[in-house]
Amino acid sequence: MNRLGEKIARLIRAAGPISVADYMAMCLFDPDDGYYTTREPFGAKGDFITAPEVSQMFGELVAVWLVQAWEAIGRPAQVTLAEIGPGRGTLMKDIVRTVGRIAPDLAANATFGLIEASPRLTEVQRQTVGQSGVSITWHATPATLRDQPLLIVGNEIFDALPFRQFVKADAKWLERAIGLDQQGQFHFGIGAATLGSDALPSEAASAPDGSIFEIAPPREALMAEIVERLARYGGAGIFFDYGHLEPGLGDTFQAVRRHRSEGLFDNPGQADLTSHVDFSALADVASAHGLAAHTTTQGEFLLGMGLLERAGRLGQDSDATGREQISADVERLAGPDQMGRLFKVLKVLPQGVTDIPARL
Ligand code: SAH
Repeated sequence: MNRLGEKIARLIRAAGPISVADYMAMCLFDPDDGYYTTREPFGAKGDFITAPEVSQMFGELVAVWLVQAWEAIGRPAQVTLAEIGPGRGTLMKDIVRTVGRIAPDLAANATFGLIEASPRLTEVQRQTVGQSGVSITWHATPATLRDQPLLIVGNEIFDALPFRQFVKADAKWLERAIGLDQQGQFHFGIGAATLGSDALPSEAASAPDGSIFEIAPPREALMAEIVERLARYGGAGIFFDYGHLEPGLGDTFQAVRRHRSEGLFDNPGQADLTSHVDFSALADVASAHGLAAHTTTQGEFLLGMGLLERAGRLGQDSDATGREQISADVERLAGPDQMGRLFKVLKVLPQGVTDIPARL
């Protein structure tokens, strides 16, 4: 067992089994050995590739969305353009470049902000966006953003926040906990907390024993913090992640290291731990704050924003190899068997503002 594994095991020996959420929080954010605090997870050499790292087209189309949302809310002069969970900073770099080209008045007046929990990744982001020509401020949480209209984007941020699992046993739903077996190895057991039927989807009643349901209060709390700002000061948000549009049962806890899935307990702090995001739960948070929430798939969104046209234009300036790469990137971002269908999008807009892109 590695050093972080030993630390978690000591905690369990002292205080008893821990929730999936606690295990995930320690693995991802332990100050000494956590995944996001110590590693550079993204890109071909890292553990996984994200949409902005696949192609600049992703950030360009997100920028077009942000500009259209800005126009739809009445082009406020004082506005913050922010990203939450920026990773290497690639998406923000592409957004700044594109907004500067298509809406120079927005680029000139906007306050740019990056919200990042990891001090180490903050340094990486400074390198990436340092030369972008606009001044950018960093924030540990959305709370310190300026009190003014906000345009905000997040890619693969909610899946990185802790979630809890409940297992059905004898008609009850009991929290799944992580303890130690006789050999001192991590294993799944049952904790004390239970989940009431009003928190469960309708299929839960007839589901067999052993079925799993996941909830993620920290994700909903972060969404609430964001949409509270949007409701109070005006603005819009767009969020991408893999997940499902309807609530449902199922175990989606996974560990990924070097582009491969591995055991959840194999390398604590060295693998990315995630679960699928429940978009309906996040959309409900936005609706509860009086905002309009629209959900769709990443494929539908990108195609609706003009992915093919953008690819065509980029292709005109490329050679044959370049054009092949561009088609592969389009397929990767929007193809139904790649990111197009698994990844979903939540768009949050003020009530009365038409969805962007408008539905045909
Ligand atoms: N958006 C990037 C990176 C996704 S990984 C991309 O698409 O490539 C998740 C990112 O969210 C990391 O930068 C991680 O450090 C950050 N993060 C995780 N929890 C966070 C929180 N509560 N607030 C802000 N950033 C967070």
